Amino acid sequence: MKFTELQLHEDVLEAISQMGFENPTPIQEFAIPKIIENKDLIACAQTGTGKTAAFILPILHKLVGKTDTTIDTLIIVPTRELAIQIEQEIQGLSYFISVGSQAIYGGGDGKDWDVQKDALKNGTDIIVATPGKLISHLQMGYVNFKHVKHLILDEADKMLDMGFADDLEKIVSFLPKVRQTLLFSATMPPKIRTLASKLLKNPEEITLSISKPAEGVSQNVYLTFDNQKIGAIKHILEQKPEYNSIIIFTSSKSNVNEIVFQLKKQGFPAKGISSNLEQNEREEVDNVHRIGRTARANTKGEAYTLINEKDMRRMHKIEKLIEAEIPRLILPEEMGLQPEWKVSQSSKPKKKFKPNYKKKKE
Ligand code: AMP
Repeated sequence: MKFTELQLHEDVLEAISQMGFENPTPIQEFAIPKIIENKDLIACAQTGTGKTAAFILPILHKLVGKTDTTIDTLIIVPTRELAIQIEQEIQGLSYFISVGSQAIYGGGDGKDWDVQKDALKNGTDIIVATPGKLISHLQMGYVNFKHVKHLILDEADKMLDMGFADDLEKIVSFLPKVRQTLLFSATMPPKIRTLASKLLKNPEEITLSISKPAEGVSQNVYLTFDNQKIGAIKHILEQKPEYNSIIIFTSSKSNVNEIVFQLKKQGFPAKGISSNLEQNEREEVDNVHRIGRTARANTKGEAYTLINEKDMRRMHKIEKLIEAEIPRLILPEEMGLQPEWKVSQSSKPKKKFKPNYKKKKE
């Protein structure tokens, strides 16, 4: 299918080709016509499927020709990182349309608060917000949501996991009852169904296979003790001299400095970035999301995850979520023995998993 078959306005099509998107992804093919028809929608899709453009494109299509500055669309997301990312995608895709947008999230200063307040009070076409910060503004009484026509919940499962259920209900109570609601979620546990039944009316539904979006990424795991991790990173980098860009995610800010220091010492041109994400936000930005970023819709990527003894249970949960066992790789012999894969009896995978390193010891 071609984007031109989706009835999108020519200015939207222009931006799509400017962004270098050639064909719609499956979720875009399904969702764009439904959203244009004003249907409510539940989409089970993880990051990497093109889900963001699947809701931004039809919203932009509807915004062509809007002349007032009222808030038309509210997008609620679990983390500040995602809010920034979506707002940037809106900016890219609305290049040929006059559309205003504002991200609302915590961690900024007084100036940020004023900019956010202005957008919520005097209007801008699209607001992308994290629940906590939005509630803080709502409590001040100046937010004008009277004209909101579209509510989009992105990564809804993550928002519920982070304990935002009550906040979401409260936010929705400020919105007009007649509106279009779209719910995107990487997984569909019963609590998402309950939320959907409260917020959506006769929704259309699409479920994309959970492992599909990361198809372009080959995933690998190294089981490591903590003191082997820097060595493991060097080992990975030495094998990838042809790569232009490699991103290393760590679980805490202090690890960033240590890794950058160690890599620079070894002659790798490394730079550290760390934000002031709240501890719980940091923990919740999970593995699946990160790995989805590795390969864009039509390119390839590789992801390596270093797992110590404490992280094995979490890794096991991720494997259950993505319904795949990720290959274990072996570190060079001189780095010593790696920890053995162990998860508690109750959560053992159904299929017996034989790690590679066992072969090596034989
Ligand atoms: P998402 O699933 O929204 O996180 O998107 C993953 C990536 O795919 C983003 O970098 C998008 O810019 C990109 N993308 C979205 N739609 C398309 C498309 N139709 N063709 C190529 N890339 C796309």
